[in-house]
Amino acid sequence: MKDRPAHSTIGALIEDKFSLHIYCEAYNCGHHGEVDLEKLAMRIGVDHGAMHYELIPVFKCPACGSKHLSMRISPNVQQNIGPVGPLHKA
Ligand SMILES: [Zn+2]
Repeated sequence: MKDRPAHSTIGALIEDKFSLHIYCEAYNCGHHGEVDLEKLAMRIGVDHGAMHYELIPVFKCPACGSKHLSMRISPNVQQNIGPVGPLHKA
């Protein structure tokens, strides 16, 4: 392993099939949605950092325009995944 977080760039999230959700924290809004990471990567680059403080400034709420957002990165669980085996076999 390299000495940096495993999912520290958008490219790494796409590669490992993670999904990114953005939540609007504005009072009375509550809008949220899943971000299309591939489109995002085309816009700001696959090497763009995926840490909260790096991604949040890129977004604003499409419903109310608020920049008061939070985000959640989660594994995009797929069907037909076999038994868990050794990860990242080289
Ligand atoms: Zn909003």
